[in-house]
Amino acid sequence: MPSAATVRAKRRTTPAVNPRATHLALALRCVAEQSGEISRAGIAAGTGLNRSTASSLIDELIGGGLVREVGSTARTRAGRPGTALALRPDGPAGLGIDVNVDYTAVCVVDLTGKVRYKHVVAEDQRGHGTREILDRVDRLARGARQAAEADGLDLVGSAVAVPGIVDRAGATVTLAPNLGWRDLDVSDLLPAGAHGERAALDNEANFAALSEAGLLRAGGSYLYVSGQIGVGAGIVLDGELYRGSHGWSGEIGHLTVDRNGPPCPCGRRGCLERYAGHEAILRAAGITDGAGTTFGVRPTADLITERAQAGDPATLAALAEAGAVLGGVLAGCLNLLDVGRLVLGGIYRQLAPWLAPEVEREVAAHFLGAGWASPEVTVSTYGAEAPALGAALSVVRTIVADPLRWLTR
Ligand SMILES: [Zn+2]
Repeated sequence: MPSAATVRAKRRTTPAVNPRATHLALALRCVAEQSGEISRAGIAAGTGLNRSTASSLIDELIGGGLVREVGSTARTRAGRPGTALALRPDGPAGLGIDVNVDYTAVCVVDLTGKVRYKHVVAEDQRGHGTREILDRVDRLARGARQAAEADGLDLVGSAVAVPGIVDRAGATVTLAPNLGWRDLDVSDLLPAGAHGERAALDNEANFAALSEAGLLRAGGSYLYVSGQIGVGAGIVLDGELYRGSHGWSGEIGHLTVDRNGPPCPCGRRGCLERYAGHEAILRAAGITDGAGTTFGVRPTADLITERAQAGDPATLAALAEAGAVLGGVLAGCLNLLDVGRLVLGGIYRQLAPWLAPEVEREVAAHFLGAGWASPEVTVSTYGAEAPALGAALSVVRTIVADPLRWLTR
């Protein structure tokens, strides 16, 4: 028989299930899934709740500024048309900031998941002081906030993506090798939401992976690989990010391909990004002139694409080699994770016509289950903007997942 102390400890650690919180989240999810096409009767049918309960939940969501009434639903066989319900596009919104190696991007997303503002500054951060980088981020965030206010949005929270591992609880970038950041406290940089909420900090590939799952955590289980100057990955299991014990999962760019390989900014040798990162591909293709940045006026992925389309042998060989090394590492990841889908994001999205066949070949050769089930190799919905978009989405996702917390803030 458990002791009284054990029972008390259990009570403290088991989260209380609040039926109202669950029901509000269910009702809001139904609205989000069929925004503009569902009525109160539809909510009752979709949630299994009785009509009066469903109706009072909707009243609460309307009162809290999350849902609005928009005309009538179509007449169905079940009966008369009802008042159609939709998520409020002028309700709470999220700000996402992506501080990457060669660009900084900001993005505002409204409650429906729609992008309402975005701005990119393409500039290689290397060679610039940390203070300078953080000031640039601050300016971009202020511009986004002004644009959101002018658009009538309530910017309630923000999230910042960085190319490295972070201490999410303490607002510290633990290590971002390509920016030269180590144990850097960025709490000054993290803008507070309109109601004082502190911004979230996470790895850029994690946020990019979230952009793929969207507002409603769709897409099942997949590994999202983000090709940038570095290479990151986001592990999504049943629509949720798997962050690992410290939040450091997905550092695929620093998996060792060759212990005696070229040195990496992380201090080790022969990491994946030295073979399949953006700069490694440029170097192998012999592209040294006219190179821009990952994202901006003239993205270098465009340059690689143009040369590959023209049949430039060095570029084709560089892409084949990068794809093969990437595929070998991804096959190892599949042996470990057994997810059904690989998503090629960042610059890999654009370079997929050349990289994907190599990845598929390596996966077929080295994934143990390949004879029975081949994972799908797909391209991401969004390109270089994915981390900023996913960061902004993460803010509104928390509201859709737990509206009661929002309504009682
Ligand atoms: Zn490394």
